[in-house]
Amino acid sequence: MDTFKTPNSGESLANYVSRIRKTLNLTQLELADAAGIHGRVGKIERGLTVKINRRTLQGLAIALGVPTEYLEAVGKGEEVKQVQGIKFCPQCWNPGAAVDPMWGNVKAKFCYLCGTPIRANCANCGELVLSLRHRFCPVCGFAYKASVKTAKTRK
Ligand SMILES: [Zn+2]
Ligand SMILES: [Zn+2]
Repeated sequence: MDTFKTPNSGESLANYVSRIRKTLNLTQLELADAAGIHGRVGKIERGLTVKINRRTLQGLAIALGVPTEYLEAVGKGEEVKQVQGIKFCPQCWNPGAAVDPMWGNVKAKFCYLCGTPIRANCANCGELVLSLRHRFCPVCGFAYKASVKTAKTRK
C-alpha cells in the first residue's frame, strides 16, 4: 500500500478524498465515474455530505484504491491506527482461529515460532487483512494461509 493513502491525523473525509484524488491525478468527474456516484464528489469534498452510505464509501474506496475502513475512519474522525491490518504468520496461523498476540507486537517482523515474515495484508493484492475469520482475501480471493505442502512428509 502506498503510504500517501494513509489518512493524516485529524484529516477530514473531505480533505482526504480530495488529497488522494489529486495525488492520483483524477478530476472530480473521473472519480465520480469510477466510484459510480455521479455528481457527488464535489459535495463530498466540500464537506457537504455528512452521512455517506456504505455503497458510496465502497465505490470511493475502489476508485481511490484505499481500504473502505480508511474512509469510514476519517468519516468518523477516528485515527487510522485502529484500522491497521491484523498481523499473522501465514505458516502457523490456523484459518478461523485467533491470532497469536506475539505476532501483533509492534516490533514483531518475523514469526517467533517459525521465522516466516509476518503479514498484515494479502500476499497477492496487498489489501489489509481486517478479519481472520475470513480465510480468503475478500478483494482477490487469495488464501491468507500459505498452502500446506508438507502434510504427508512426516512418517
Ligand atoms: Zn510461524
Ligand atoms: Zn487479495
